[in-house]
Amino acid sequence: ATDYTTVTDGKLTMISSFAFPPFEYMDGDDYAGFDVDVFKALCDKLGLEPNILPSVAFDTIVPTIKSGGKADVSLAAMTITDERLAEVDMSDPYMDSNQSICVKKGASATDVDSLNVKGTQIAVQSGTTGEAWAKENLPNATIVPLDDIIQAMTGVSTGLYAACVSDLPVVKYEIEQAYSDLEVTVEIPTGEQYGVAVSKDNPGLTSAINNALKEMEDDGTMDSIETTWFGS
Ligand code: GLN
Repeated sequence: ATDYTTVTDGKLTMISSFAFPPFEYMDGDDYAGFDVDVFKALCDKLGLEPNILPSVAFDTIVPTIKSGGKADVSLAAMTITDERLAEVDMSDPYMDSNQSICVKKGASATDVDSLNVKGTQIAVQSGTTGEAWAKENLPNATIVPLDDIIQAMTGVSTGLYAACVSDLPVVKYEIEQAYSDLEVTVEIPTGEQYGVAVSKDNPGLTSAINNALKEMEDDGTMDSIETTWFGS
């Protein structure tokens, strides 16, 4: 019954960067996280079979979706931005987020002024809104783009970087899970919203996804996925 340009064999193919917990990460050989659950629920609503591709670097996702053929959609805790909307379609928002600055506990430089200093190394994830924020707001520091936020937080933990800038819910979650030696010292209210990226060749799919997201808000599916990953 469905007829979306890029969707073949009744499968909806999703690409993401599985190193951004709790939104997407590898649990052994399994794809796990909030976005994976949202994706599966979306497929359910759309009557399509979920097909998840192996993890890629975050900064390759928009070009991949734009060029089409390989993946139909991406759920990657991806902030809806004008730059991205110029390349791909994005669904209505399904999650709110903000940025954060994270340092080692006891560090002397903990705020924007003390980190915005020549020679200070700030770790970010390449191609993210955190990277853009850091470049704009910490212009005197050296911004170091890395493949993923785990690398960035590990580097802060070992003293390689003075701080990292990334999405607050991810940094908070990772501090709880694995980095008790780190802390968030600045919460940055960027007011970001995550959306599903879809090829512009597939406008019918974007509107079907928007309808499905609306249904998931209305019938409690979204609430129950949020409770699973973030508590009540
Ligand atoms: N929300 C941020 C962005 O869209 C980070 C996403 C990510 O690293 N997966 O750039």
